[in-house]
Amino acid sequence: MKRTAVWLMAVLFFVALCGAAAAADTLADAKKKGVFVCGVKDSTPGFGYIDEKSRDIVGYDVDFCRAIAKKMGVRLELKPVTSASRIPQLIAGNIDMIAATMTKTADRAKQIDFSYTYFFTGQKFITRKGEVKKLQDLAGKRIGTAKGSTSEQNAKKALPTATILSFDDYPQAFLALQQGKVAAVTTDESILANILDKAPDKTKYEIPDIQISDEPYGLGMRKGDKNLVDFVNKTIVEMEKKGEAKKIFDKWFGPKGMAFHMARTFKITTKKEPWEK
Ligand code: GLU
Repeated sequence: MKRTAVWLMAVLFFVALCGAAAAADTLADAKKKGVFVCGVKDSTPGFGYIDEKSRDIVGYDVDFCRAIAKKMGVRLELKPVTSASRIPQLIAGNIDMIAATMTKTADRAKQIDFSYTYFFTGQKFITRKGEVKKLQDLAGKRIGTAKGSTSEQNAKKALPTATILSFDDYPQAFLALQQGKVAAVTTDESILANILDKAPDKTKYEIPDIQISDEPYGLGMRKGDKNLVDFVNKTIVEMEKKGEAKKIFDKWFGPKGMAFHMARTFKITTKKEPWEK
């Protein structure tokens, strides 16, 4: 009797495992439910922020989510995430994919899967004009950034004597700079350029030509969610071929926007990061 019970438990456990494995097909689930839930930033100008007129979340990342949901033939739902909350939200099943200025790193790839690189930038600083000429000018200073970002980690490594203050998002870090509480804000140039562009007192600040890292962005999906990863990769490569990806870039950062800071030097390709091979 006892043996039968143990067997029964083992069989039930196996069935449950199969169920869990089957549930990891987010593409099939989204098609069944008719909705794809994308985790995006809501306070990162250019990528995911609230449009003042429509009050909708808009931006480069949002347009990628929109194109992917459209290709699936389902409705898009947007859920705001922060740098720190995006991976936990994905793992908890609250969102289906992360499209939130997220850099692909070997460390993060232990927890989640990434698409091909769909945006490329590098980490820099916003400082008060004329104060910073070289990285060492920031040694021992207070520097603002966002919690849970690669910016936080890179800054600690590049400037071990600096005090890194981590905020929930980058506009808050910029506010600290405007209030004189930090000497610089650090993150991806793509984000800094957009924040500066929107600031009413932008002439007081600059982005010196000091880059401390490369930041290739990837769309984040649950580990082993292979059908979705393949679908997303196929879709974004197609978007590149059809010129749709460039159109989205031009819409948010194009000739009249941030091109001054960021030319579109990348292309969505099947090329992998060295650690992905
Ligand atoms: N791309 C960097 C990261 O993934 C900084 C931007 C962000 O915090 O989203 O951490």
